[in-house]
Amino acid sequence: MSLQYLSDCHIHTDCSADGTDSAMMICESAARLGLYSVTFTDHCECNLYRAGGFDRSIRQSCYESRKAAAAFQGRLRVFSGIELGQPTQDLTAAEDALGCFQYDFVLGSLHNLRNQKDFFELNYSAAGLDDLLNRYFDEILEMIEWGNFDSLAHLTYPLRYIVGEYGLTVQSSQYKNRIDEVLRSLIANKIALEVNTSGLRQKLGVPMPDYPVIQRYRELGGTLITLGSDAHRWADVGAGIEYGLKLLREAGFHHFAVYSGRQPHFLPVE
Ligand SMILES: [Zn+2]
Ligand SMILES: [Zn+2]
Repeated sequence: MSLQYLSDCHIHTDCSADGTDSAMMICESAARLGLYSVTFTDHCECNLYRAGGFDRSIRQSCYESRKAAAAFQGRLRVFSGIELGQPTQDLTAAEDALGCFQYDFVLGSLHNLRNQKDFFELNYSAAGLDDLLNRYFDEILEMIEWGNFDSLAHLTYPLRYIVGEYGLTVQSSQYKNRIDEVLRSLIANKIALEVNTSGLRQKLGVPMPDYPVIQRYRELGGTLITLGSDAHRWADVGAGIEYGLKLLREAGFHHFAVYSGRQPHFLPVE
């Protein structure tokens, strides 16, 4: 890869149940590709915190990322993060997970609505979609109001399944006001918007969120953007990040953010 500051701020290791490769293997791959930095963000699903064993696996993830940072010193910047799923569904778990390590970066995610399965496991039909998506935006807004995370991961995640897998049509104009509410709330709370490039590798075929939302965030005055591949295996590290930077450039952004010690550091959009 040719750009100087390519950074992937959303990567899973084998400390996530659905990740396959070690932090060391991922760093080896990132260094070979010439990435500037990587941030490990293993899963912590707050609604399943103890039952799912996340209290153990996130500690393991933090130690593995620190070991990799030491081993790759001088070749690759390695940051330690977490993907905090559904934090407002169990605030005690969220606070426990946040308290167990000095993270560089905290992603906030919503993989399932309260008392429902992951969007990945639901069956979709046109009926009920509107209600489902409105509940999704309601819970996203609740999370942002709680606010103890640095970047909102994969906004529009349900579309990966509704549009990508089920081929249903969602009129984005119908949700323009809801998306505006989310973007305005991110800006007011100084929380970044993630451009998650995993959608490019899937049937959805576009990042989450897609370009019109990125452009709208800019129009509303947003300046805090993070980029992540959401890789779950070494071969996907850095995937789509160059394309993500191209979209940012087209939307008029001059910088994107990489977090260290939970503070944004701005790198140029080349
Ligand atoms: Zn996620
Ligand atoms: Zn993820």
